Amino acid sequence: MKILRSLRARLFLIILLAGLIPSVGMRYAILQSYEDRAVTVRIADVQNQFKILANHLILYGYLMDTSSEVVNSELDQLSNLYDGRVLIIDQNFKVIKDTYGISEGRTVISEEVIRCFKGSSTTNYDSKNGYIEITTPIVNTVVSASGSQTEAEGDTKESLAEGVILSSVSTSTIMTTLEILNRRAMIVELIALVFTVAISLALSKFLVAPFERVTQAINEVKAGFTDEEISVNDYLETEHIVDAFNQLLGRMKVLDDSRQEFVANVSHELKTPLTSMKVLADSLMTQEEAPAELYREFMVDIANEIERENKIINDLLSLVKMDKKAADLNIVSLDINGLLELILKRLRPIARKKNVEVIYESIRPVTAEVDEVKLTLALSNLVENAIKYNKPEGWVRVTLDADHQFFTVGISDSGVGIPEEELEHIYERFYRVDKSHSREIGGTGLGLAITRSAVLMHRGSIRVQSEEGQGTTFFVKIPLIHLV
Ligand code: ADP
Repeated sequence: MKILRSLRARLFLIILLAGLIPSVGMRYAILQSYEDRAVTVRIADVQNQFKILANHLILYGYLMDTSSEVVNSELDQLSNLYDGRVLIIDQNFKVIKDTYGISEGRTVISEEVIRCFKGSSTTNYDSKNGYIEITTPIVNTVVSASGSQTEAEGDTKESLAEGVILSSVSTSTIMTTLEILNRRAMIVELIALVFTVAISLALSKFLVAPFERVTQAINEVKAGFTDEEISVNDYLETEHIVDAFNQLLGRMKVLDDSRQEFVANVSHELKTPLTSMKVLADSLMTQEEAPAELYREFMVDIANEIERENKIINDLLSLVKMDKKAADLNIVSLDINGLLELILKRLRPIARKKNVEVIYESIRPVTAEVDEVKLTLALSNLVENAIKYNKPEGWVRVTLDADHQFFTVGISDSGVGIPEEELEHIYERFYRVDKSHSREIGGTGLGLAITRSAVLMHRGSIRVQSEEGQGTTFFVKIPLIHLV
C-alpha cells in the first residue's frame, strides 16, 4: 500500500493507536474487574443464604419430609430473590425438591454434587448463559458437635453431608449493569476517538512539515529560482539532509565553473592556430606577386599550425575518454616491463633528436591488471615531457619496482625543473609553466591532466619532485590487482 509508505500516514496511525489502545484496554479491564467483583460478591451472598437454609433443612427434618411450610416458603423466597432455581438432593442423589417442580424424583449424579457430598461447596460461573451454579452441602453440624464425644477431626466433616442444595442463580442484573457501563464507556471512547483523530491529523501534519519544506526548497533550486544555499533547521535530520544537499550544490557549482572555464580554454586553444593560419594566409594574399619561396615558407608554417590543431583535438578526445566512468576500463593482466620497453622504443627517436639519453632500469619482473591503452598514454606523456623539458645532452631515467601490492614507475630527468609554486597547478587542463617556451616545444597543457585521470582510474596515485634547473621526477604508483 502506497499510502502506508508516507511518513505522515504512519505518524497519524501511531498517534491514533497510542491514543486508542489504552482507552479500549482500560474499558475492558474495568468491565472485567467489575464483573469479577460482582460475581464474587453474589456468590458469597448466595452461599451465606444457603448455609442458613441448610441449617433450617436439618432443623425441620426436611430431607425426611418435604412438607414443612416454613422451609418451602423460604425456598420460594430465595428462588425469587435470586431469580433462580433451587434443587434439594438427598443422600441417594434423588431430587426431593425443585422450585421449578420439574425434576422432583429424578436422580442427579454430577461431579459437583459428588464433590459437595464430600463436604466442599462448589461454584461454577457460566458467563455465556448468565448464571452461577452453586452447590451447598447440608451438614448436621449440631449432631457432629454434640454426638461425637471424640475431638472433631477436620476430615470427619466430609462424610457428614446429608444432602446437597443445588442452585442456579441468574446474573442478569450484573449483566445489565455491565451493559450500561459498557455503553457509557463506548460513548466516552467515541468522543475520545474524534479528538484523537483530530489531534493525530494535526500533529502528523505538523511533524512532517519540515520535510515538506526541504522538498520545496530543493524544488526551488531545481527550478532555478535560486542557487542560494537552503536551510531548514527544525530537526537535526532535516539539517543533515539540507547540509548534504548544500554540499552537493557547492560541488555542482565548482563543476559548472570548471566546465565553463574548460570551454573557454578549449575555444581559446583551438582558435590560436586558426588565427595564425589566417594571418599567414592574409599576408600572402595581400602581397601581389609574392615569391614562391615565401609561399613555401608560409605553407610550412600553416601545415605546422594544422598539426598543432590536430594534436589539441586528439588530446581533448583522450581527456574526454578519461573523464568517463572507471567501468569503461578494459582491464587485462599485463607484463609492465614489456609495456615500458615498448613506450621507450617509440620515444627514443625523439630523444635522439634532442640528444637525450634514455635509461631503463627494472628491478624485478612485474605483471599487473591494467588498461593497456590508458596506461600507455599516461606513461608516454610523462616520458615525453621528460624528454621535451630536458637540456641538450641530458638524460631520462625510467625505473620500475614493485611490492606485493603496488608497482611504482619513476621517471626522472635532468631537465629544466618546475618552480615550487607551480607544482600544484601542473595537472590542471591547459596549464603550462612557461607559456611561450612550452608553445615552442609543442605542448597543449593537457598531457598531465590526461595522465592523472588515467592513474586515478586505476586507483593509483601520482607524485612529483622537482628542483628548478636540476630536473624532475614523477612517481606513479598503481595496484597490481584491479579491484572494482
Ligand atoms: P604540455 O603539453 O605543455 O607538456 P603537460 O600537461 O604535459 O602539458 O605539462 C604541463 C606543464 O608542466 C608543462 O607545460 C611544463 O611546463 C610542465 N612540465 C611537465 N613535465 C615536466 C618536466 N618533466 N620537466 C619540467 N617541466 C615539466
